Amino acid sequence: MSLFDGIESNVAFYSRLYPAVFNSSEGVYIFDVQNRRYIDFLAGAGSLNYGHNNPILKKKLISYIESNGVTHGLDMMTLAKKEFLSVFHEKILKPRNLSYIVQFTGPTGTNSVEAALKICRNVTGRQNIIAFTNAFHGVTLGSLAVTGGRFYRAAAGVPLNNVFRLPYDGEHDNSFDSINYISEKLTTSNSEIDKPAGVIVEVLQGEGGLNKASIKWLQELQELCKRHGMLLIVDEIQTGCGRTGDFFSFEKARIYPDIVTLAKSLSGYGLPFAVALIKPCYDNWKPGQHNGTFRGNNLAFVTATETFKYYWKNSEFSEAVVHKSLLIKNRLKEITDKYEKHGFQHKGLGMMQGIDFMDGKVVNEICRNAFLKGVIVEPCGPTSNVLKILPPLIIDNSCLHKALDTIADSIDEVINNKMRC
Ligand SMILES: *Cc1c(COP(=O)(O)O)cnc(C)c1O
Repeated sequence: MSLFDGIESNVAFYSRLYPAVFNSSEGVYIFDVQNRRYIDFLAGAGSLNYGHNNPILKKKLISYIESNGVTHGLDMMTLAKKEFLSVFHEKILKPRNLSYIVQFTGPTGTNSVEAALKICRNVTGRQNIIAFTNAFHGVTLGSLAVTGGRFYRAAAGVPLNNVFRLPYDGEHDNSFDSINYISEKLTTSNSEIDKPAGVIVEVLQGEGGLNKASIKWLQELQELCKRHGMLLIVDEIQTGCGRTGDFFSFEKARIYPDIVTLAKSLSGYGLPFAVALIKPCYDNWKPGQHNGTFRGNNLAFVTATETFKYYWKNSEFSEAVVHKSLLIKNRLKEITDKYEKHGFQHKGLGMMQGIDFMDGKVVNEICRNAFLKGVIVEPCGPTSNVLKILPPLIIDNSCLHKALDTIADSIDEVINNKMRC
């Protein structure tokens, strides 16, 4: 650690939680310089759905580089981009009956969110965006404005406005109906709320504590948007690319968002790559109006294309994720049942589940303990109160059980230790 002290900015976060210097990685494993092996349930915060250095993707990538394939292409046409677009259309959009235009934004999630917000505002000529409590959409100013966390917002230094915040589904034990509330407000002629340009929502809040929206709520939200001419943005940056079983987490709700943001696991290889998917009727950009030097990461196009060809050619991968999700759920429920009197809550869905311990200190200790035992796992939620299980989707059952055993041991030790003092 001391190696980095005084040279790297104070802003580094994960390096404090996992104090090792890492050097290599393969599949679900990451190795430190002492060659200690860790099972990686942080998975690049959801960027490594297909594992570290996935051999299928690596092979394509190396051969593309060897053949002097274009690496940096701005937004020029390249063969790699052409293939990405056609395979994405063929394997992902078409089977789901979705017809989206693909906008290549800057390569980070937050930039695709910025683009999505601009589209809503430009298309409708309105300013307000409806966003939800505990949302996380990135940390550049526009995305930060729709993000909920005070901690992140406090760093902006300027007002973060033109956002109307509503409780997310299930917040306040369902005693407040956000959709009903806003629906009434927007319908009365004397409303104090300016008509919003759009709504941005996560189907499952990745950073916000694994809160999930119900199918009914999402459908009602879509209806509300239609009724009031607002665009619906679904942020799939963390939930997308199979994390909840389907390619998009909104599929089960059978909604059809106006804009979808994708990043994190899109390249499949941990390479930076983000897109905004836009319904054709809302693609009213002028050429170059939203740009970014690195929006043509052709290496990422090559690996992303291969993920669609290999993992999304049929339903096998998806089914395996559903199967492993159930396994995770059962294991986590065993833990919450065991500590029933503590009131710990199971959270999340798909391979994005966790436990709410209602205490950030406890979760931090569990993470540190698990790290010492060789499993990397992270906290999330408004007070880091939720332990988040985010394995690479390609993990096999025995490794999954092994890591969950370790996590269960880490939890037992921390909880029993706490009860002793
Ligand atoms: C990570 C994340 C973002 C931001 O993506 P970056 O690549 O970190 O800018 C936005 N929305 C969600 C849901 C995320 O998980």
